[in-house]
Amino acid sequence: MTRFQFTIHATDGAARTGEIAMRRGSIRTPAFMPVGTAATVKAMKPETVRKTGADIILGNTYHLMLRPGAERVARLGGLHKFMSWDRPILTDSGGYQVMSLSDLRKLTEQGVEFRSHLDGSKHMLTPERSMEIQRLLGSDIVMAFDECPRADRPLDEIAASMEMSMRWAKRSRDAFDAGGEHAEGAALFGIQQGALDEKLRQRSAEALTEIGFDGYAIGGLAVGEGQEAMFATLDFAPGQLPQDRPRYLMGVGKPDDLVGAVERGVDMFDCVLPSRSGRNGQAFTWNGPINLRNARFAEDTDPLDDRCSCDTCGTYSRAYLHHLVKSGEILGAMLMTEHNIAFYQQLMQAMRDAIGEGRFATFASDFRRDYCT
Ligand SMILES: [Zn+2]
Repeated sequence: MTRFQFTIHATDGAARTGEIAMRRGSIRTPAFMPVGTAATVKAMKPETVRKTGADIILGNTYHLMLRPGAERVARLGGLHKFMSWDRPILTDSGGYQVMSLSDLRKLTEQGVEFRSHLDGSKHMLTPERSMEIQRLLGSDIVMAFDECPRADRPLDEIAASMEMSMRWAKRSRDAFDAGGEHAEGAALFGIQQGALDEKLRQRSAEALTEIGFDGYAIGGLAVGEGQEAMFATLDFAPGQLPQDRPRYLMGVGKPDDLVGAVERGVDMFDCVLPSRSGRNGQAFTWNGPINLRNARFAEDTDPLDDRCSCDTCGTYSRAYLHHLVKSGEILGAMLMTEHNIAFYQQLMQAMRDAIGEGRFATFASDFRRDYCT
């Protein structure tokens, strides 16, 4: 059984393309992971998600621990069986969403105490409990428990938070190793913090590398700092992490963010944007995003994108989707989500091809010309 093996097939500048081999299948990189928050990629059947080309999806520890509960998912045979997705699943640690969604948080060295946003019930998340929950879910890629402060906090607060996240990373590693997931074939990723500061990011990368992880995430970006600041940070952050391990930029992003991040050496992404936008009537295309609520699509018989190979584009017109979206029909959310997830997967495939053929710079400039103007 292959537990976790990352092979880089080709590089082009800082961009890399390769493959992560795991027990439940391999993940082609650069990879985009659709977000399956509550054991579902909203509005999509798992087989449709797979058909778009996704090799891996993401599940959220915070949501799943509150409903239906990690112990219940474990009794039902784990998350893969529960939701009928037999390929790799990455679970986040819950840290980020506790801070963004829950009420009455109390942050200490031990962990975070909070009240559920669903029913007000009291919970505690620690590195040890986060590892236990991710083990109960049956995660393939487990994320270390960390704290993600807002990028606009004073530097001394960012530094103190990062140092605590590094202590939590060590506790995550120890709890993961004690839990036996390693032997069963799961992998553990550490998360670099340090906001936009190069020295803090370097210190964080060194602390994580010393502990040792299967892959390394870049956390604390896409939290409101803007694309320019994010790219400026990505000019140095990926290079601080081990070259031979996958680098995962958490919570990113728009199609042009993905292209710019791959250009700077990132291998993996996740974001709710394609699914959430789809439910809100926005479609991504090679010529930029379009909003199907707009009256100009009312009698437009073209597909969403004439270069897209998804079922939505093969079957339905912009005029019909405009009607569904305007009418609030469930099918509108389903078809739009399918297109957006498929578009993201086609974008990743196009990037993998371009890197493999040594023409990524041309691809990126052509993409930006068509997408951003
Ligand atoms: Zn499509």
